[in-house]
Amino acid sequence: MHPRSLPPQKTSLWLTRAPDAKRFPALDKNLTTDVVVVGGGIAGVSAAYFLAARGTRVTLLEASHIGTGETGFTTAFLTSSMDTPFFALRERFGNNHIQRARRTGEEGIALVEEVQKKEHLPCGFQRLDAVALGLQPESTEHLTREMGALRLAGGEPTLLRAEEAQTLTGVAAVGAVRIPRQGAFDARTYLLGLGERIQKRGGQVFEETPMTGLDIGKTLVVNTPSATVTTDHVVLTTGLFPNPYRAQNKLFRQTVTYVIALALIEKTRKWRFPNVLAWDVTDPFHYMRFLDELLMIGGEDRPVQEAAKAGEEPWHSLEVFAPILEPNTSWDVTHAWQGQILETSDALPVVGAPPGGDSRVLLASGFGGNGMTLGSYTGKMVADLITGERAADANPFRFERPTLASKNTERQESEECERRPPC
Ligand SMILES: Cc1cc2nc3c(=O)[nH]c(=O)nc-3n(C[C@H](O)[C@H](O)[C@H](O)COP(=O)(O)OP(=O)(O)OC[C@H]3O[C@@H](n4cnc5c(N)ncnc54)[C@H](O)[C@@H]3O)c2cc1C
Repeated sequence: MHPRSLPPQKTSLWLTRAPDAKRFPALDKNLTTDVVVVGGGIAGVSAAYFLAARGTRVTLLEASHIGTGETGFTTAFLTSSMDTPFFALRERFGNNHIQRARRTGEEGIALVEEVQKKEHLPCGFQRLDAVALGLQPESTEHLTREMGALRLAGGEPTLLRAEEAQTLTGVAAVGAVRIPRQGAFDARTYLLGLGERIQKRGGQVFEETPMTGLDIGKTLVVNTPSATVTTDHVVLTTGLFPNPYRAQNKLFRQTVTYVIALALIEKTRKWRFPNVLAWDVTDPFHYMRFLDELLMIGGEDRPVQEAAKAGEEPWHSLEVFAPILEPNTSWDVTHAWQGQILETSDALPVVGAPPGGDSRVLLASGFGGNGMTLGSYTGKMVADLITGERAADANPFRFERPTLASKNTERQESEECERRPPC
């Protein structure tokens, strides 16, 4: 197959639909507030929304524009399955860990569903089944193990034999695991709507206002190029953390992931692939979903150092994968984009004050490929922690958890785990 030409502009579908533009003012005078949230992605906007909804005076600062960080480059699956299979997480960390991961994922989906409904946000939310597809003979064992782990984690998956999987998807699969009632939405539209709702509840949203420094004294003072904000609490949701928290970034493995969007050339034809959230269980894996008549295919993940050398090859590899889903069909590549994900050693985010840090400054990041669910869940949890509705030790994502290793100690830990599983 000859690769089709890629669009010259490598931007996401979401940023084409709701172009990157300033929609909220920049900060131009000093302020005093209860909480400053820094970062206007899914985690920061959700946190600011849940705080404003409880009557807390909240100020959101975004360096660029709302929803144009990694959240603007997502594929926006809402799923409680993780990038790392549950059976692998169970072997390393035990049943409690996968139960917690699945439960928080499910709660994240429910939160987005509830909020978009309550706030009448036109973000295309829909409940969809997810399907993990086995495409190679050796995938059968993977599917059986994942099915068992998902049940232990509290899910209600169904194992589909080859014929059932093929009937459902039209793909020559060796089998599949179907996970009911997951979801999909347009995260950027959701966040833009939430920004307005924050303002309606008395919160303040500023774009083009980067935090350039943080003074930690009797009060907290957030510095920006134009003004300062004095506050009782700060929540940093900037992806990689800025100073004085840069040292915490060693907790993250940084991976680049790629996406293409395809449009059928014959407009009268319909895609054969069904409207589900799907991924294959090959390593590295591919993931697929629809947005209206466009099929998004993502994957070809690689460490950030290798991505710099990869050029356009990962997108062409995604195209080579496409005929597995839709044989004998012609399409155009309408969009091609890439983004970076930050993963921790145990596939859960970090949220809270790091060891030795000031308890008034909460950090939240490391959502891996599950930022839509875990970021939403985190937003509510941050509001609970700040308003005292949740005790700090009831935070499942706290820094002081035994399963969290920095990337420097991770190899050593995983070797130890292999000797005495599960740890
Ligand atoms: C291609 C791709 C596909 C993905 N698919 C999925 C998926 O299907 N489902 C899923 O759940 N997850 C998916 N993810 C992961 C998900 O997108 C991320 O986990 C999530 O968007 C991270 O959100 P965030 O709020 O932590 O960060 P971001 O969205 O990056 O937000 C951080 C914000 O902080 C701002 N900022 C940085 N520094 C400062 C500063 N000093 N002052 C003020 N603001 C600052 C940035 O401008 C940015 O807007 C995908 C990721 C990629 C790249």
